[in-house]
Amino acid sequence: MLTAYNLGKKYKQEWALEPLSFRLERGMYGLLGPNGAGKSTLMRLLAGLMAPSTGEATVQGVSVRSGLQARSRIGYVPQTFQMYPQLTARELLRHTARLKSGASRAEQEREVERLLHSVNLEDKADRPARTYSSGMVKRLGIAQALVGSPDVIIVDEPTTGLDPEERIRLRNLLAETALRSVILLSTHILGDVETSCKDVIVLTDGKLRYNGALSGLARHA
Ligand code: ADP
Ligand code: ADP
Repeated sequence: MLTAYNLGKKYKQEWALEPLSFRLERGMYGLLGPNGAGKSTLMRLLAGLMAPSTGEATVQGVSVRSGLQARSRIGYVPQTFQMYPQLTARELLRHTARLKSGASRAEQEREVERLLHSVNLEDKADRPARTYSSGMVKRLGIAQALVGSPDVIIVDEPTTGLDPEERIRLRNLLAETALRSVILLSTHILGDVETSCKDVIVLTDGKLRYNGALSGLARHA
């Protein structure tokens, strides 16, 4: 479903991500690696936000760089980002639904309400995003990424800023979404992936070190 073919990125002369290949089917995957390993670079390449130096990434066989249509099949939540501070959660999700979803207005409305409920933002849905805590901004970012049921959802540090209850709720939401999508979670918290990801991709120093079952990682190390 999500495939990297010889995908690599150089900044200036240096490989930030050496060419790598993998294929991910539906389900939840962890992307692990220390700071500077190339995780953000890989996530941005997979999300189609940056041109690779070599190779390509595809979703359902279509290059993620082939245009808006392809990009709308991917939801990406960066680690930190700026929400339009004057928009409310409901307004932002409505706006995203209009851009991303081919559904009717009525269906878009239902989706927005369902997502607000999923990330527990219903109570604050009509307040401007500038009044939100970092956890609420994160949850809104995740709701925004889920608009239109994309085939691929990529989340950088999904649990940052969330309290324990919110983490459990998010884990359940992602687990449910992983039944129909590829979900890639970058994290340095092994516990995040232990409970929910059967497979992990490990990057070190811009190289793919491991791709497989978490249970095999200890043997590999
Ligand atoms: P991670 O997300 O795992 O911390 P990154 O993908 O952010 O890793 O970075 C991988 C390497 O590429 C690091 O050495 C980083 O300094 C370098 N790098 C990342 N972005 C840029 C950039 N825009 N220009 C130059 N070097 C970069
Ligand atoms: P992360 O916490 O995900 O690893 P970073 O702090 O490495 O993110 O990078 C944040 C931003 O800075 C990214 O847009 C990345 O491309 C850019 N960046 C990272 N390293 C460098 C670098 N050495 N030169 C220029 N830009 C960089």
